Amino acid sequence: MRFLFQILAFLVLFYFVRYILRALLPGMFSQPSFDRSQPQNSSRGRAVKQGKMEKDPVCGTYVDVATSLHESFAGETKYFCSSNCLNKFRQIRYSERNSKSV
Ligand SMILES: [Zn+2]
Repeated sequence: MRFLFQILAFLVLFYFVRYILRALLPGMFSQPSFDRSQPQNSSRGRAVKQGKMEKDPVCGTYVDVATSLHESFAGETKYFCSSNCLNKFRQIRYSERNSKSV
């Protein structure tokens, strides 16, 4: 029984170490099929990382469409660098709408 337990413990340890190594070093243990699907991931990935840039209408900063805050106003999507700018723009929009209707 003790021998079996030792084998079991060894197997658990082996899979645990392999799991950690895979997490830390994904390239070393990657399977061929995975490599074929993403051929030049490490070299090309960073160059194409930045997506479309849009101008923040409040402060004028250019922000990444994929990561920035955005909200649509009258069917037009606006992008903001922060929630501060979003709130400012909301206030501007509401005041514009109120002045027009009155
Ligand atoms: Zn801003």
